[in-house]
Amino acid sequence: MFLAVGCSSGEEGPGEAAGGVPVVEKGKLTVCTHLPYPPFQFEQGGKVVGFDVALIDLVAKDLGVEQKVLDTPFENFKTGAFLNSGKCDLAAAGMTITDERKKNVDFSVPYFDATQALLATKKSGVKSLADVKSTNKKLGAQAGTTGESYATSQGFDPVAFESSDAVLNGLRTGQVDAVIIDYPVVQGWLKDKANAAEFALGENIETGEQYGFSVKKGNDKLRAAIDKAIEDAKADGTYDKLYEQWIGPLPQGRS
Ligand code: GLN
Repeated sequence: MFLAVGCSSGEEGPGEAAGGVPVVEKGKLTVCTHLPYPPFQFEQGGKVVGFDVALIDLVAKDLGVEQKVLDTPFENFKTGAFLNSGKCDLAAAGMTITDERKKNVDFSVPYFDATQALLATKKSGVKSLADVKSTNKKLGAQAGTTGESYATSQGFDPVAFESSDAVLNGLRTGQVDAVIIDYPVVQGWLKDKANAAEFALGENIETGEQYGFSVKKGNDKLRAAIDKAIEDAKADGTYDKLYEQWIGPLPQGRS
């Protein structure tokens, strides 16, 4: 049996996919992510699935290769370290396109609009960031994310958790009273009855964020292939189908 664990650039070494797109491992499209980040990427029945995974499968199909997902530290998405070292071809992590990140990586066209959500324990009575401040409650966020930087920009010093799982757990165990994290993640959590009994969505904050997939700076061939797959999926209805499958009803008034 072939085990991918521990080999950074694959048994076969680098290769070339359809259209002359370079890949770090022959026959694969190797994707760095940070698990779990439902509904964009999470494990289900021993496989990594989700909206991002489904979109990148379209890219892989166009390139005639197979997607391989690696779980890596979130910090790496900002620095682009794993793209630069040839560990991954691209990063897909429900990642917001920011000017700061653009210094180190190149982004695809935007593929998703997101907002930040404030989720609080019901017993805290917190409904907004202003409530967190005025009632002196504890706020949590995921380390290195745009939610964390938004909170910081508003004068908070949030408790940092390593993953979305840890954020939810921090809320559950009372380490924090409220958390700020991307809305689609909260939307997914609240579909679970046990979560909905204990936690409630406070405010939804329009930060104007858009997600993008990132490639190594200058990897224009792969970036163009990703853009094409996203544009094709939007044009032929596949994008909408996947959105409804993984995220929920399509936003109203979307063009
Ligand atoms: N969209 C947020 C960001 O880019 C969170 C991403 C994540 O936690 N995977 O920082």
